[in-house]
Amino acid sequence: MGKITGFLEYEREDRDYQPVEERVRHWREFVLPLPEKDYVTQAARCMNCGVPYCQGTGSVAPGSPGCPVNNQIPDWNDLVYQGNWDEAARNLHSTNNFPEVTGRVCPAPCEASCTLNIDENPVTIKSIECAIADRAIAQGLKPEPAANKTGKKVAIVGSGPAGLACAQQLARAGHEVHVYEKLAKAGGLLCYGIPDFKMEKIHVERRVTQMEAEGVVFHYDAHVGVNVPADELLKDYDAVVLTGGAEKPRDLPVPGRELKGIHFAMDFLPQQNRRVSGEPAANGEDILAGGKHVVVIGGGDTGSDCIGTSFRQGALSVTNFEILPQPPLHENKMLTWPNWPLKLRTSSSHEEGAERDFAVTTTKFSGENGRVKKLHCMRVDDKIKPIPGSDFEIDADLVLLAMGFVHPVHEGLVKNLGLALDQRGNVRASTDDYRTSIDKVFAAGDMRRGQSLVVWAIREGRQAARAVDEFLMGSTLLPR
Ligand SMILES: Cc1cc2nc3c(=O)[nH]c(=O)nc-3n(C[C@H](O)[C@H](O)[C@H](O)COP(=O)(O)OP(=O)(O)OC[C@H]3O[C@@H](n4cnc5c(N)ncnc54)[C@H](O)[C@@H]3O)c2cc1C
Ligand code: SF4
Repeated sequence: MGKITGFLEYEREDRDYQPVEERVRHWREFVLPLPEKDYVTQAARCMNCGVPYCQGTGSVAPGSPGCPVNNQIPDWNDLVYQGNWDEAARNLHSTNNFPEVTGRVCPAPCEASCTLNIDENPVTIKSIECAIADRAIAQGLKPEPAANKTGKKVAIVGSGPAGLACAQQLARAGHEVHVYEKLAKAGGLLCYGIPDFKMEKIHVERRVTQMEAEGVVFHYDAHVGVNVPADELLKDYDAVVLTGGAEKPRDLPVPGRELKGIHFAMDFLPQQNRRVSGEPAANGEDILAGGKHVVVIGGGDTGSDCIGTSFRQGALSVTNFEILPQPPLHENKMLTWPNWPLKLRTSSSHEEGAERDFAVTTTKFSGENGRVKKLHCMRVDDKIKPIPGSDFEIDADLVLLAMGFVHPVHEGLVKNLGLALDQRGNVRASTDDYRTSIDKVFAAGDMRRGQSLVVWAIREGRQAARAVDEFLMGSTLLPR
């Protein structure tokens, strides 16, 4: 373990943020890493408890305790405390292909499950993970090509975290891996959804370079089911893995929805990421928040990213509505630990000046000359029923719909292959073998699971790789 009395001697100390006035003037990351010696002290707080729930229990249920990729957290905390950063990095990469990504954007269910969190502040697991990964990368990210080739070919459709993790695992197992991506770059939501101020894209680019050196071939502007026939992949490859994400956004079909100035979050956010990276804009009008009163509907990660992006573009005001009631400020740890608790979460973007309101539903939009001008709302009770007489309205020049995603897009790939779907409209496949209803076709990540988290996508990509390797070779040494 770190230091026997570490948790008694040291307080939790975590990374700080640049002040709001400074960070809203640029698009770069604004989290300030701790000096290396402070990570050593923080790692010393780990108690290496008998049952480390932080590592995860293997449960696949949303909100289940601990790390979904089963990072061996007490082990690398101890290694950092001992100053053995190289071995910590090796250990961390044995369970997580992209720890510099999760170290930046993971909500850290591990910390909710930390034993110290019962009556103390948890270990800064996420920051230590990020420090180990960043330090290893600064020393040079080495490719790990397979020693022997199997002669089997695998196609992966979609290059988000699920597709990338799956591709890396399969290439390292010796298969010839081709990734088909409909956009100009790899990364999925890591590249086009999550803003640069949360995670700069160099982190994805470096991994793509590493994977290319490991033999993975990327095909861009390759939209399977549109400009690449799906059955061609079935013909040309020994296995096909579908990791196309859950891209169908939830709409708000109320009167006035057709007015100009009302957009899905994923029409807005990728435009800004393309501006930052210098990638030419996709077709369609420029959606910009500068000089506007912005209303963001939806209180999750996507909504939060719309808020931070709007402030950086110079919005006059940003209001964030959530239909669910405001959660409690603090959880009752005796009831919730080690699970992921329901409590009010305030993101760095919320702190940049957004007005938040809960238990609010939008009844209609109204406008002038075809453009939205107002949002008409009502308050809802705890059964999400509108409360009579609670109507109010708010000025809005730009409305961003961030109410989640219902399931993968069905047109094209899913329909062309005739894949069976689950009750929610996701591609049906179990977490035992990740096989879909079509022979030699597998599915993983948000496409199989529905909208989720980066760390779950990495887990599913890794596990699907293992299932594919076993299917192709009869046995596998890839970890589950
Ligand atoms: C705005 C936003 C912010 C988020 N922030 C966070 C966060 O901070 N932390 C967190 O943990 N999670 C976050 N999430 C969730 C997280 O990004 C996703 O759960 C994760 O990216 C899912 O990974 P995936 O690989 O399954 O799919 P995706 O990342 O969606 O990748 C799918 C890829 O497949 C491609 N594709 C789709 N269909 C085809 C086709 N037919 N042919 C070729 N290519 C295709 C797409 O272009 C895309 O590149 C966020 C989500 C959004 C929308
Ligand atoms: S991936 Fe997420 S849950 Fe796992 S150790 Fe890192 S921050 Fe914690």
